[in-house]
Amino acid sequence: MSEIDDASGGFAERYGSRAEGVWSAPGRVNLIGEHTDYNDGFVLPFAIDRRTAVALGDRDDRVIRVASTIESDAAEVALDALTPDAVDGWAAYPLGVAWAPGEFGAGLSGVGGVDLAIASTVPIGAGLSSSAAIVCAVALALDEHWRLGFDRPTLAKVGRLAENRAAGAPTGIMDQMAALSGEAEHAVFLDCRRLEADLVPLGFEAAGLSLLVIDTRVAHEHAANGYAERRASCEAGARTLGVESLREVRVDDLPRAQALLDDESFRRVRHVVTENRRVLDTVRALREHGPSAIGPFLDASHASLRDDFEVSVPELDLAVATAQANGAIGARMTGGGFGGAAIALMIDPLVPVVAREVAAAFAEQGYREPTVFTVRPSEGARRDL
Ligand code: ADP
Ligand code: MG
Repeated sequence: MSEIDDASGGFAERYGSRAEGVWSAPGRVNLIGEHTDYNDGFVLPFAIDRRTAVALGDRDDRVIRVASTIESDAAEVALDALTPDAVDGWAAYPLGVAWAPGEFGAGLSGVGGVDLAIASTVPIGAGLSSSAAIVCAVALALDEHWRLGFDRPTLAKVGRLAENRAAGAPTGIMDQMAALSGEAEHAVFLDCRRLEADLVPLGFEAAGLSLLVIDTRVAHEHAANGYAERRASCEAGARTLGVESLREVRVDDLPRAQALLDDESFRRVRHVVTENRRVLDTVRALREHGPSAIGPFLDASHASLRDDFEVSVPELDLAVATAQANGAIGARMTGGGFGGAAIALMIDPLVPVVAREVAAAFAEQGYREPTVFTVRPSEGARRDL
C-alpha cells in the first residue's frame, strides 16, 4: 500500500465518503548546503521517494477537519476561528496551512470547509522534513481546491509560514521549495535570497550510485535551542561584518572576519561562508564531471558542521566515518543536526556493506540501532488522484 492509497482509504474510513482528490509532497534530503538557507545562501536538496499524501473532501459548512494515520487525535476548527494559535500539536501544521494563504492576499471568506485525511511514508523527525511534506501536500491541495492560483514559490512561503507561526518551528525556505520543485533524478539548486530554483541533474542511477540515509534515531532536546543559537550567531556575525546576511561574505573575506570576531563566532561564520562555496562547487562538479566527483565536498561539509558549526553528534560522526572508511564516495550529516540522519553516496554494491558496518559500529558503541535505507531523487508535490 502506498501513502496515496492509505490517505484515500483513511479518508473513506474516517469520514464515510470518497475523497475528491489526493495530493502528495515528498520528504527531502539535503545533499549539501547546511545552515545556509537562513543566511540567504545556497542549498542543494532533492525530493525523495517517500511522500506525505492528503485526501481532501468538500463540506457544505465552513469547518475544517483533519486526521492522520500516525496520530490518534483528529482536529476540527471553524474557518472563521482559524488563527495561527487556534490549534496545538501536529494539527497545527495542516491547519496552519489553511490559515496562511490569507497572509499572502488570498480571500478566504467565500471558501468552503474541507475534510482532510493524511498518510505518510516519510520518517518523522529524522531530518527528512516530514513537516515540509505535510504542509506542502496540504498547501497544494487547498490551492487547487480553493482555486487560490498561487505559484510554487508562494506555496513554499505559505508552508513555511504555517511551520513558523502555527507550529512554532523556525525553518528556512529550503524544505518547502525542495518538496514543491523536485524532479526525478534531479536536485534543486536553490538560491535562498532570490528564491530561484534550478534543477541540476544528479545522474545517480546512470552512474550506478546509491544514496544511503542513516537515521541515527537520536533526537536531542536542545536541538531547538541549538538551532536558535546558531541563527543568532550568524545574525550577530553579519552585523559585525556590516553585511545584511552572511551570503555576502566571500571565502576571501574570511581573514578580515577572523580579525573582527571572537573565535566561536568566526567559526560559525566560516562554516556558512565555506558551505556556500561548497554548494556552488558541487553544482559545478555535477554538471561538468557527474556525481562521482562530489565526494570531497560532502566530506568537507561534514567536517565543517562538526568542527566549525558544532551541530553534529557522536552518532552522526560515527555513521559518516564508517561510511567513508568502507568506500563511500562521500558522506555527511544532513539536516539541522543535533541528531537526525547522515547521508552517504556510494556505488550500488556497497550499500549492504556500509549498512552492515554502520550497524556493527553502532552496536559496538552501545548506540541505538540506526535505521538505514536508500532514497531516490524523485518528483515534487503533485496531484495523485
Ligand atoms: P522533520 O525532520 O520530520 O520535519 P519536524 O519536527 O520538523 O521533523 O516535524 C515533525 C512533526 O510534523 C511531527 O511531530 C508532526 O507534528 C508533524 N507531522 C509530520 N508528518 C506528519 C503526519 N504524516 N501526520 C501528522 N503529523 C505529521
Ligand atoms: Mg521539519
